[in-house]
Amino acid sequence: MRDYSFGNFISTLRERGGMSQYQLGTLVGVSDKAVSKWENGASKPRTDVIKKLAKVLGVSVDELLTCEYDSSNYVRKELFALNNKIIKQAEKRLKELYGDKPPVIMANRFKTEQIMLDGQETLLWMGFMGELYGKCREAGAYFEVRNAQMGASLIAWLLGGTNVNPLPAHYYCPACHKIQFIPNVKCGLDAPNKKCICGMEYYKDGFGIDVGNMYPIERSNDIYVSNNTTKIVEECLNDYFLKYGRIRKFNIIYTPITDVEIPEGDDIIGTKFALISQEMSKEFPEYIITMQYEDFRKVRDEFSILTVNENKQEYISFFDMEKIGYTDKQIRSYINYSVKECAFRHYYSGVDLNKLFKNPDNMNFSGLLAVYGFLHGTNAWENNSEFLYEKGIPMNDLISCREDVYSYLYHKIETKYNNPLGLVFEIKEDVRKGKYFYNGMPAEIEKLLSECEVPDWYIESMKKIRYLFPKTNLTVQLKRNVCKTLMKNGY
Ligand SMILES: [Zn+2]
Repeated sequence: MRDYSFGNFISTLRERGGMSQYQLGTLVGVSDKAVSKWENGASKPRTDVIKKLAKVLGVSVDELLTCEYDSSNYVRKELFALNNKIIKQAEKRLKELYGDKPPVIMANRFKTEQIMLDGQETLLWMGFMGELYGKCREAGAYFEVRNAQMGASLIAWLLGGTNVNPLPAHYYCPACHKIQFIPNVKCGLDAPNKKCICGMEYYKDGFGIDVGNMYPIERSNDIYVSNNTTKIVEECLNDYFLKYGRIRKFNIIYTPITDVEIPEGDDIIGTKFALISQEMSKEFPEYIITMQYEDFRKVRDEFSILTVNENKQEYISFFDMEKIGYTDKQIRSYINYSVKECAFRHYYSGVDLNKLFKNPDNMNFSGLLAVYGFLHGTNAWENNSEFLYEKGIPMNDLISCREDVYSYLYHKIETKYNNPLGLVFEIKEDVRKGKYFYNGMPAEIEKLLSECEVPDWYIESMKKIRYLFPKTNLTVQLKRNVCKTLMKNGY
């Protein structure tokens, strides 16, 4: 007998989110036919899809399985109200920057992200980081998002929550708002200088991070801030989340036996703030909550936590970052100085990539990003790409970060496989976590890759990787380091 209640529930939630069956399928990694079958009661999603489906539809797994929507959920009600406000703000900015008719590529990306973020806490944090950016800029301070993947989102960029523009490489005219995409260039900064038809020098941007690299940012956020910025963060948290919940400070007692990483050195102070919903405030009425680490571990999934790592020695500001334009000359200066200092060397693993800069003129911003990726990965360069590079495979074709795997495989698999977003996302996740290294690559994945003409050397390289860093973080760190080096040397 057909079970219509499940199908009806899914189609109601899908329509509420303004999604077609095709779009929902894309987001959870199945075809539109599969979605149609669920909705008319002919089949049910596989267990591994249920969790993803719940996330995309903005409900809990319980709600999905019981087909009952808990509309009294306080947190969600607040989220929906804020959701609309934040999206409107991002839309306004999009029009300010690119006019009433932004290029199709941007409009599509905006829509896809909007669907992915609907009702998600992620959007709330994007809005918050945008507010924080404004406050920090005013105060001459700086922060960067660490483990969250904000730089994969155009909406986060429009809100000011990240300075990594995820669009493909492009020229942008600050005077007449014209935008021109640059094919076959990995980062906008690598493109030659050019003038707009209005006579204005084009601004170069875009780091080419596909929308399929977006992760939800919730529960646990981590930021790195400059000297004296924690206080600004605290004030901003209290202002921004006033209606949504209450901010509490966490004092966690780490015992010597606790197996936990505490930031090294006296210069960095880590402070944890918890965002507690109004209802839970009764449970945690005191402003500073002191807890043993073991107890904290048990409760930390119940509220969102922002960890602020304040570096007392860090004096850089957003204003400094905006002042430098990352010109070819500045990047060259950064490379020359860093090679002299042997800076392209990994402190722990001993991987030394200074030798790659024998001819620094061949190195551009995306080349530097690849070097940063190799220095932050495990078995990405060492015992892997180093041999491929020796054999003559160009730097830009090697796997140095997660997004490399995604972009490359997406285009390969797209030719044979309808709607590969979900599948490619999963392969990329398996590579970056080293799953193929530890457990081997499943035969069906290897077969698919071969059928899609992914070369053997690439497949072998995927199997050797134990860990890959995200491109957003690499970009943020590289931008900061270039800025610091130039300031320190008075360039
Ligand atoms: Zn112009």
